[in-house]
Amino acid sequence: MISFIEHNDYYKHKMPQILENPKRLRVIKKELTASGFLERKDVTLISAELATEKILKTIHTEQLVDTVKHGSMVGDVAITGDTITNEFTFQAALRSVGGAIKAGELAVSSENQVAFALTRPPGHHATRTNAMGFCFFNNLAIAANHLIEKKKAKKIAIIDFDNHYGNGTADIFYERNDILNVSLHIDPKLSFPYQGREAEIGEGEGTGYNICIPLPEKTGDKEYLEAFDKIVPSIVREYKPDVILVSAGYDGLNGDPYGYLSLSVSGFQAIGERIAQLANEVCHGKVALTLEGGYKFDELGRAFTASMKPFLTDYEFNSKKLLSNLNSSGNKNQIKATLGELKKLLKPYWRID
Ligand SMILES: [Zn+2]
Repeated sequence: MISFIEHNDYYKHKMPQILENPKRLRVIKKELTASGFLERKDVTLISAELATEKILKTIHTEQLVDTVKHGSMVGDVAITGDTITNEFTFQAALRSVGGAIKAGELAVSSENQVAFALTRPPGHHATRTNAMGFCFFNNLAIAANHLIEKKKAKKIAIIDFDNHYGNGTADIFYERNDILNVSLHIDPKLSFPYQGREAEIGEGEGTGYNICIPLPEKTGDKEYLEAFDKIVPSIVREYKPDVILVSAGYDGLNGDPYGYLSLSVSGFQAIGERIAQLANEVCHGKVALTLEGGYKFDELGRAFTASMKPFLTDYEFNSKKLLSNLNSSGNKNQIKATLGELKKLLKPYWRID
């Protein structure tokens, strides 16, 4: 069963000249309709609820909540150069957090529940104290923490496949071991947020529970999937989470104006396959996803639906067929060196084959 969570508030937040805009949701919704997803019996559309300010403060400082709230009251306030409020931003941000919480609650409610919160603004760059990178509050982190606090999950694995490192999520859970955070992203030397190196493995009790897989410029499907396969499944299997939460970003598409990777639409289907199969194996198919980046409007919708197909009840896993559509590019030697380095760093904490 797949639930898509949406709300009209997500279309009202806009930032001047920035492609993190409502058109993103329009192209996704259009493709969801065109692909027949919304006519299926195993797919439903659900309206997001509004989160409370109280729940924001379980993760964020009062100062950040006030900054975003007052920015919205004033109108156009640039909290950073690319994180700008309009009069609807606070309401949209509260609704985004509400959508992520709803997705999380649906996912843990019974077996084979998959819920995707089609939220704007996105969240994975927002730290405890700071909004940045188009993100005001960390939707997924608040939802993850909420599930733990409400005892709906004891252990959660987060997989972040956005082009950019989810520095906010990492910051929030850096010293925790009840939330495993795994992120594949562009080499931090090349792009915002300039963090996410192999050695950033967590601290204190959280040491070994923050996994960064930085990838070189122009990494294609096959190379990306090889990096995923060599690190992610064995760690998630050993961790045995109660649910998998996903920061789903589509800015790794080849030619995305804000991205540097070279993934194809089929590449996103293969990523979806891996997450679906892993969830079936370790946590009864329970997955909640929230929308992060993705700005290549002519392919965003197709990449989105491709990534969700493997969660449909009648999807036939056929990796050979998919393989023929996957592209290959990027610096293989650099990827090999990264995977070698990661295995060395993570060996004290995980059995990586
Ligand atoms: Zn991104």
